Amino acid sequence: MPKAIIIGAGTAGPAVAQLLTRQGWEAPVFESRTALDPADGLFLNVAVNGRRVLDLLGITGRLLSDAHRAGEMEMYSGKGRLLATVPNGPAGRPEDGGAVVRRGWLQQVLWESAADAGVRISTGRRLTGLEETVDGVRAFFDDGHVEDGEIVIGADGVGSRVRRFIAPEVRAEYTGLVGAGGFARVAGLAPTPGIQRFVFGRRSFFGYLVRDDGTVYWFANATVPEPPSREHPASAVEVLAQLRVLHSDDPEPVPSILRGTQGSVGAYPIFRLPTVPRWWRGPAVALGDAVHATSPSAGQGASLALEDAAALAASLDRHADHEAGFAAFEASRRERAERVVAYAAAIDRQKKAGGSRIAGVLRDLLLPLFLRNATKDTRYDWVFEAEPAPVGAGRDE
Ligand SMILES: Cc1cc2nc3c(=O)[nH]c(=O)nc-3n(C[C@H](O)[C@H](O)[C@H](O)COP(=O)(O)OP(=O)(O)OC[C@H]3O[C@@H](n4cnc5c(N)ncnc54)[C@H](O)[C@@H]3O)c2cc1C
Repeated sequence: MPKAIIIGAGTAGPAVAQLLTRQGWEAPVFESRTALDPADGLFLNVAVNGRRVLDLLGITGRLLSDAHRAGEMEMYSGKGRLLATVPNGPAGRPEDGGAVVRRGWLQQVLWESAADAGVRISTGRRLTGLEETVDGVRAFFDDGHVEDGEIVIGADGVGSRVRRFIAPEVRAEYTGLVGAGGFARVAGLAPTPGIQRFVFGRRSFFGYLVRDDGTVYWFANATVPEPPSREHPASAVEVLAQLRVLHSDDPEPVPSILRGTQGSVGAYPIFRLPTVPRWWRGPAVALGDAVHATSPSAGQGASLALEDAAALAASLDRHADHEAGFAAFEASRRERAERVVAYAAAIDRQKKAGGSRIAGVLRDLLLPLFLRNATKDTRYDWVFEAEPAPVGAGRDE
């Protein structure tokens, strides 16, 4: 049985491991975190293109059992005026709109289904190095563990160690935005079924939704020229205090949501990888954020990672030679992934416009005109159209 060593049990890792296991591979996953943490990360959008891959894994229903369906996005000015309503999915198909889930829940569902498929996830093991061997590859971990396999798959996110083996010259680009967010309860705030709301605040962009049980999911994107220190990250209390100041002039319910925040507040600098020159080298390949990290603005990070998982498994199914499989995978994915990263970067620029008063006034005047027919505008449907490649379609060679 061929063996693929998979690094990282975020989104792409457990998904590709399950698909490869079905295809007759041994596909153990190694994750640096010590355990599954339901509170890890905030929340994210799983778009219909990502859900098609969850369908392949048979877990869409389970994921959606704890999701907020958000087929539309309402955009508000810093004065609380509704500027536009835009689809969060293909135009005119609200049933194919986005589903917002806690990142920890997506992880849990993926880890459970991986375990059901017979995938072993080893936690508390950080990959520290890779070495090409006569038969394939040897992976070294920080606890002294060593694993041999035919290939290694880097699903280890934006700071990927596997990518360093493939394309050591690449560095992720800081977007100039820090994402922060958390969960709140605000007395009297009505649920927003089917909708996520966004506010172009005076000094920082804000997004929120209210679940049927009254829980508020919120995030803020503050413009911060230099990425915050990794060694001395701000505490949750400091982050919340800063956000309350940043949003103090913004319309309700923004200040109330910040006041009503309970539990931890996450804050992380947002990085992107516009292009990575090679996605594979010898026995190593990388996928997901490791090769095309996108800012969360397009709501596509997890969905692209899922698409990659299906595409890589299908390519390895079609090609007996793994290098041919890796090349086919990269060829099938690069253009689309980079296009989505660029699309998200364009949205980031709009968010930053809130920093200048004149740009903000212009945006508030022009956005309603540009987005007047947004609910019927099919120009961005390409973002959601990808279909997972069929597995078992036969060998090309
Ligand atoms: C902590 C965290 C919070 C996030 N929060 C949000 C959010 O709120 N909203 C949003 O839109 N996106 C968020 N993201 C990004 C989003 O999860 C990704 O865009 C998406 O899941 C892509 O999946 P991926 O599998 O490529 O990478 P990731 O989901 O980043 O998974 C990578 C995995 O690899 C592990 N790993 C890294 N290095 C090593 C190593 N050397 N050895 C072993 N394991 C390693 C990591 O611990 C992680 O579990 C977050 C990512 C992280 C890591």
